[in-house]
Amino acid sequence: MVDRPTFQPPGPRATTTGVSGDLGLVSVRSPGTGRSSCADDASAGTARRRRPEGQWALGEIAPLNPNERFKRDDDGLNVRSRIEDVYASAGFAGIEPEDLHGRMRWWGLYTQRRPGIDGGRTGSLQPHELDDEFFMMRVRVDGGRLTTEQLRTIGEVSRDFARDTADLTDRQNIQLHWVRIEDVPEIWRRLEAVDLTTAQACGDTTRVFLGSPVAGVAADEIIDGSPAIQEIHERWIGDPGFSNLPRKFKTAISGSPLQDVAHEINDVSFVGVRHPELGPGFDVWVGGGLSTNPMLAQRLGVFATLEELPEIWAGVVSVFRDYGYRRLRNRARLKFLIADWGIERFRQVLEQEYLKRTLTDGPAPPAPAGPRDHVGVHRQRDGRYYVGASPVVGRTPGTMLIALADLAEAHGARRVRTTPHQKILLLDVPEDAVESLVEGLEAIGLEARPSTFRRNTMACTGIEFCKLAIVETKARAATVIEELERRLPSFDQPLTINVNGCPNSCARIQLADVGLKGQLVLDSEGRQVEGFQVHLGGAVGMDARFGRKLRGHKVTAEELPDYIERVVRRFDHARADGETFAT
Ligand code: SF4
Repeated sequence: MVDRPTFQPPGPRATTTGVSGDLGLVSVRSPGTGRSSCADDASAGTARRRRPEGQWALGEIAPLNPNERFKRDDDGLNVRSRIEDVYASAGFAGIEPEDLHGRMRWWGLYTQRRPGIDGGRTGSLQPHELDDEFFMMRVRVDGGRLTTEQLRTIGEVSRDFARDTADLTDRQNIQLHWVRIEDVPEIWRRLEAVDLTTAQACGDTTRVFLGSPVAGVAADEIIDGSPAIQEIHERWIGDPGFSNLPRKFKTAISGSPLQDVAHEINDVSFVGVRHPELGPGFDVWVGGGLSTNPMLAQRLGVFATLEELPEIWAGVVSVFRDYGYRRLRNRARLKFLIADWGIERFRQVLEQEYLKRTLTDGPAPPAPAGPRDHVGVHRQRDGRYYVGASPVVGRTPGTMLIALADLAEAHGARRVRTTPHQKILLLDVPEDAVESLVEGLEAIGLEARPSTFRRNTMACTGIEFCKLAIVETKARAATVIEELERRLPSFDQPLTINVNGCPNSCARIQLADVGLKGQLVLDSEGRQVEGFQVHLGGAVGMDARFGRKLRGHKVTAEELPDYIERVVRRFDHARADGETFAT
């Protein structure tokens, strides 16, 4: 087991220029003082001069873009004291631009989109022209683990400070909107009183750790990854050693055989597997990510025990921090480094330079069988039940969350889980309370037995609040669900529909049966209107693949229900027994 890394990013506050921590971190030197041992490898095989990518481990520490500069000038985590001591009383107008559009993300705060700016103007305006004077606040929920007390607190914060808004995200977080800077200290006080945080919920940091929503309770579980999530959180959230990464870093840990945390698209994932000699543990995957140049994660070929997992995780993050590309933001994810290096070299650097030992080879996990979202009523291994319910595209107003906390407690449940599919679970329900709970959920707008369309449709934030959005998503997706439920009441195949407001793919365009990427399209009369580029046939699991983007296959937002109805009817008519949309 390793201690916390002692690495300090280069910059005015760094006291040393060459630091090797307990992880065996590579020395990072000032320009001109030399290069790490891998510098020669990086340029091997090419005679031309290599363009610096901003890799600290190669001595390329001069900031190569404005984001790198503000991160060097002051750690994002330091903005907290300015919010509490200055901005909360000075108000929105008093916030320094680099904090407003940069460092506040390190504490889960993004300015939200000013209402009334249509998607056609998204790319042409400066950030401050798109800014509303309100914030989106992201509450991180590591492993999706909440108590009813925590759920109620989030609901009350939403009701009191966020106009009753709350969305479950597909990364198990809960997002609030309409937050005023003046209220942020009180919101933090309330959240932290119940052990919740917004630290590193956004920004170039280690974001929320996805975990199986049924960890520790599922009858078929291979291994419970929760202790590793807890340990990583306690040791490294708030650690300046990991608070200036090239870009965001996403983690997923699940010991469920359903592989329920979208491990294919995280920077590092630990997937439950049984080693023939060593017993249950994790298969390690690296380098997944969507957005520009989507790439599926690759197996590292390594078996990690529960005890080893935090050390390996910290090693992977350290490689990314030191060797990750910082010159261009759109190449600053781990997937680009791995695409260039190859998986063997990545493992070699991780082992030799960081962990100082050889890792154990391991088997691939078996193919998952069954849906990943845990919706419905399921028996736990202790004989009680967990109940998974579906809101409409993750929308759960604060008053709904408060009602859910009350309902859960009235039925003997005190543990709640969010999922990477915008769903919510209540654990530990006694058998004789299940049906009453299911009815109670329905009464507050949460379906434990939803239609396939409600269950399998996700939507990102979209133009309602997101400054990058080109089109509206949540309301559009809700209309699609309603229409399809009305038009195709007996269709029950698990057809996934993911609605995204722009190419960034927060709601996983490329992994859905029908992936929708928001953009402006021409309608039948040649007018520019909101619409979507369609991707068809994406899949997760052992046959994971990206949906095909069909050239010219675009649909206006208005026509979306008709289009999906046609796709569904055609599929339903032609499919053989057992055939899914992706096959
Ligand atoms: Fe915003 Fe685009 Fe992400 Fe949707 S996909 S939340 S519109 S950045």
